[in-house]
Amino acid sequence: LHAYFVVPFIINSLIFTFLVSSRPLLPSIFPNEITQNYSLCTNTNCMKTASSDFGKITQKLPLGVLQPSSVSDIVRLVQSSYNSSSPFAIAARGNGHSVRGQAMVKDGVVMEMSSLKNNNIVKQGVNVGENIISSSGIRVNSSGNSSLGFYADVGGEQLWVDVLQATLLHGLAPVSWTDYLYLTVGGTLSNAGISGQASFHGPQISNVLELDVITGKGDLITCSKDMNSDLFYAVLGGLGQFGIITRARIVLDKAPTRVKWFQIIYDDFAKFTKDQEHLISTDGLDYVEGSLIIESTPASNFFSPSDQSMIHSLASEKGILYSLEAVKYYNDETISTIDEELEVIFKELNFNPGFIFNKDATFFDFLNRVRTEELVLQSLALWDVPHPWLNLFVPRSRITDFNQGVLVDIIQKQSLSSGPFLVYPINRKKWDDRMSVATPEEDDNIFYTVALLNSAASTTDPSVIDKQNKEILAFCDKAGIKIKQYLPHYKNKEEWMEHFGKKWSVFKKMKEQFDPKMILSPGQSIFNHD
Ligand code: FAD
Repeated sequence: LHAYFVVPFIINSLIFTFLVSSRPLLPSIFPNEITQNYSLCTNTNCMKTASSDFGKITQKLPLGVLQPSSVSDIVRLVQSSYNSSSPFAIAARGNGHSVRGQAMVKDGVVMEMSSLKNNNIVKQGVNVGENIISSSGIRVNSSGNSSLGFYADVGGEQLWVDVLQATLLHGLAPVSWTDYLYLTVGGTLSNAGISGQASFHGPQISNVLELDVITGKGDLITCSKDMNSDLFYAVLGGLGQFGIITRARIVLDKAPTRVKWFQIIYDDFAKFTKDQEHLISTDGLDYVEGSLIIESTPASNFFSPSDQSMIHSLASEKGILYSLEAVKYYNDETISTIDEELEVIFKELNFNPGFIFNKDATFFDFLNRVRTEELVLQSLALWDVPHPWLNLFVPRSRITDFNQGVLVDIIQKQSLSSGPFLVYPINRKKWDDRMSVATPEEDDNIFYTVALLNSAASTTDPSVIDKQNKEILAFCDKAGIKIKQYLPHYKNKEEWMEHFGKKWSVFKKMKEQFDPKMILSPGQSIFNHD
């Protein structure tokens, strides 16, 4: 087993070292003023990080890596490219948790955003109310007495886990999350940032009051709904195409201390989705998601060993089960009424009484739940493996056809990997259509998120899973299910035009306005191709 991991790793490292050492020297490629003014890191460590990501499928070698120590370092580099007779491409790299090279650049410069950490925000914060500068450098308005309410000014390079820790010190927290917190603010705001809270508060991009953005011309612009709003809406879900986010003002609310956390098991897809849709359409809960349980689904520490084996034997009998995941926050003030409130909420649902399981956790542990799984997978050498993920938004009107054609007939029957496979509806009411992110064009308040989060561990060839992904997309195409990819991956302009649909003309116009030389985020392969 060991050889499966070690041999490819050694071969890969040798090829990589050869590629780095055999490439032309920087001065022959870059304009002189760049090599004189910037110390780009080109050692094997920098290059290796910059040319890989969580997906472990794509590898692109940049010319060098800039490790900015201030926002003006970024401004200067972008301006140098923009003003040069041969502009070079620049990719902001947040935490490199893309899966298809979206934060990479071939023969350009990777901007390693993490090197700004603890540097830019303290200098940049905006003074409103009683701002408190926390030790991590995240600026929090904890007085809530401005017209904006509570917020934090956060560097685009900050990890959400650090934002959470800094805001909790003031009894506050952002309201919208991703399932995993080791992602940067700039990275998730370039996509959407979704999780089980999105139905109640909108995605993360709906919870931003203001941004500082360095455009592809090298201009540092502050934007919001009322100020430079074209840029503001373009950047949110804009896949890094219009500017580099250096500061985001994030909406906060009072943080709960604990959560009641439930998994409810269904063997009937119609009942499962009806209950999910009911829960996201009424007030009462704070988070609703859902996932598949098939025979290969690994044991979850959410369930006791006896519950786990009961669920597994049911899964092998039925072939496929669905788990509705729901959470309600509480604190000392609401502890005495929470159980009663939950009883009222769950009375409306249609599940078998013996199939509801619950857990009590701190707010932090609940939000940081995927980190616990990561550490386990890391210890088993199952985290740093290829991830041929496919994330889709599916119109509600076709989710039943999608269940049969994809989840049952492809995912369950082929059982190539153990997932996880997430399925949950999102209420659209807090999404603003002016933002760049593409969602199903169907006129409906609800669409579904389906996240097929495959891992290709040592014995699985990622190309086999990619073949399955293609089969899924072909099925949707043939059945006329008008999905939109989330965290999209396309290789040619026609596919991108179709992806953005009615938003394409604005998207293209914004590119011409804010990054006319097509310098930024070429790894998305929308306007520039390697
Ligand atoms: P990177 O991969 O570094 O960059 C992504 C893109 O954004 C690139 O094009 C890059 O050039 C651009 N970019 C990066 N920083 C900036 C910036 N400051 N300004 C402008 N552009 C920038 N997503 C969800 O919505 N919900 C989830 O629950 C969720 N869970 C995940 C769990 C895991 C384990 C992983 C690996 C990913 C998950 N994602 C989820 C996807 C994740 O939100 C995106 O992949 C996101 O882009 C990762 O952030 P990053 O900081 O690593 O970005």
